[in-house]
Amino acid sequence: MFDKILIANRGEIACRVIKTARRMGIKTVAVYSEADANARHVRLADEAVLIGPAAARESYLVIDKIIAAAKATGAQAIHPGYGFLSENEDFCHACEREGIVFIGPPVSAIRAMGSKSEAKKLMEAAGVPLTPGYHGDDQEPSYLHQQADAIGYPVLIKAAAGGGGKGMRLVEKSEDFIDLLASCKREASSSFGDDHVLVEKYITKPRHIEIQVFGDTHGNVVYLFERDCSVQRRHQKVLEEAPAPGMTLERRAAMGKAAVEAAKAVGYVGAGTVEFIANQDGSFYFMEMNTRLQVEHPVTEMITGLDLVEWQLRVAAGEPLPLAQEDIHLSGHAIEVRLYTEDPYDGFAPQTGTVQFWRPERALAGRAKGQCAFGEVRIDAGIHEGGQISPYYDPMVAKLIVHGRNRQDAIRRLMAALDDAPLLGLRHNARFLRDLLDHPAFREARMHTTLIDQWLQDGEPLLQRPRPETLTWALAAAALVAQAPSALRPDSVAAWSTTLTLAGTTESQAVRIRPHGAQVSVQLADGTVFAFEQLGWHDHRLSYQIDGVQRQAICQVQGGQVTLALGATVFVFDEKSPFPQNHQALDPRKLRSPVAGTVCAIAVAVGDPVKAGQPLLCVEAMKMEMWLNARADGIVTALHASLKGSVAAGSVLAELALTNEETNP
Ligand code: ADP
Ligand code: ADP
Ligand code: MG
Repeated sequence: MFDKILIANRGEIACRVIKTARRMGIKTVAVYSEADANARHVRLADEAVLIGPAAARESYLVIDKIIAAAKATGAQAIHPGYGFLSENEDFCHACEREGIVFIGPPVSAIRAMGSKSEAKKLMEAAGVPLTPGYHGDDQEPSYLHQQADAIGYPVLIKAAAGGGGKGMRLVEKSEDFIDLLASCKREASSSFGDDHVLVEKYITKPRHIEIQVFGDTHGNVVYLFERDCSVQRRHQKVLEEAPAPGMTLERRAAMGKAAVEAAKAVGYVGAGTVEFIANQDGSFYFMEMNTRLQVEHPVTEMITGLDLVEWQLRVAAGEPLPLAQEDIHLSGHAIEVRLYTEDPYDGFAPQTGTVQFWRPERALAGRAKGQCAFGEVRIDAGIHEGGQISPYYDPMVAKLIVHGRNRQDAIRRLMAALDDAPLLGLRHNARFLRDLLDHPAFREARMHTTLIDQWLQDGEPLLQRPRPETLTWALAAAALVAQAPSALRPDSVAAWSTTLTLAGTTESQAVRIRPHGAQVSVQLADGTVFAFEQLGWHDHRLSYQIDGVQRQAICQVQGGQVTLALGATVFVFDEKSPFPQNHQALDPRKLRSPVAGTVCAIAVAVGDPVKAGQPLLCVEAMKMEMWLNARADGIVTALHASLKGSVAAGSVLAELALTNEETNP
């Protein structure tokens, strides 16, 4: 076994690998960019090496710098995590050349599965069922068009080198094929440097079911059952579970066999995932193989009781697989949710800022394994209190995973864990995840891969920003008093002594406060009065009694801003109205960048007439593209953006002279 390994990654996965290495007595080396100097993975590792500026292509993606860090620290092996260099053949080669063990499959397996087209050819030969389609070498547009017509619409055009849900186009009818093919090829060249595509039958309302496989250097390959990843948004996973609801023993065995065949066909070693797309009727087709540890591997660990990173390390060190197929068993039900610093109620816009409160231990307390057979709660996080979420990397900051006796049990436990692990400081999707777990479509296992996208179009209530209840407004006002009682006029005990204007995210109201000792009464604009008793404040915990019942909330007051976490839902109120600022943001004459990022498209030029709603330019941050649309008809008078240029959050990127000046504020 190794004495020391380097982890060529960041965030939660780097922290997670360090955890197992520590448990096994293996020293760890972290690498980090300038933006990550203070990051959690750097703090957890035994040693850390700075590898360059914030941009991943200048740090986490630079093979030479990572190899140099491994040599400088004497690391014998490198764990690549997922994303970044995990499926990069050149990196794998470089490790080999330098005599460093790459903790992953051999170069040949990465290459074989790197192209979706080549992978499909191999799977065809191995007898694995494939999504009907064309994955040949002829890339002539008219020929591909013929193939699509023969497959029958709708079809999906996919970049052979694609990944992360990028480089795909849905074609509904023959007339649209040629244009969408061109746009897919453009995106494929710019994102993956390879415009080779394949065409597949588009399966409507499918489920995504994948099989975890493991191989060793002694020729053994096993499967560790399935994961259901059908809850997706724009083809990216939001929540995963194991086992898949409704899975029969026969189908599991058939899929497991197909996955093991797939792995054997490429001489697979280490952890890998064979992804299938499944029809509502249960038929399944090979989609692709991911030659690395998957984001959602913890659900498999929970139902099998195994540590997949330990298996990876043992296999990389040349040991045989610890268990044979018949010794691997499945118990209970596990669900994972991905906590993203994205605002689900604002088009899932990625958020940057400081983590002001994050104490996940609270969710773990009393739920550790050992106290009962099921019910383990696990939080894999890449953040810490005081840490920064920068715009340079993926906005997934943590995963919450639970194990239940059965699916309903797991759902309840996960909702409770989300309630007990609030994140304060920036917007995120915890409340959305909780609502999702509680939604009938999920409870009844009716999810399919495009349901959330459909909800976005249908205006599903789960995607509407939750409005604070009257009690929440009152509690925010009481929190201000509890935190700084002296700031309020102490003179009148009987009279309403102070009036505040509290502004929530979308509305504001005047509230009156009457403090007396540990009791505070709050009157809202509509006249409702709440009397809080035994108001107490201790280390971010606001306790109060109302109508004879004691409750508490996680709360933070900073300046005039009150942040209240009521379970998984976080509300922010400002004592001074933020609306003048919003007003500025709404001025249709100036289009501002919603985030710090890079300009990835400019669709207009100075002097162009534009219509309200027309997309003007696009900013990319955290792998997400956000178009800025004109909010009124007008003429572009200035552009303050250049292609690939960096822009700050809030900076003006385009200016318009409005056609109809009356619409000006
Ligand atoms: P999974 O199937 O495990 O969800 P994906 O293939 O979508 O995985 O990606 C796994 C991880 O790889 C992501 O969470 C992200 O960190 C990283 N990743 C995926 N695509 C990209 C990309 N285009 N650029 C950078 N990182 C990516
Ligand atoms: P990536 O490399 O981006 O992960 P995949 O081929 O794994 O690409 O596809 C990602 C997602 O796109 C799947 O999980 C599924 O939701 C959807 N998808 C892929 N192929 C099809 C198909 N033939 N029909 C319908 N949806 C598909
Ligand atoms: Mg995939």
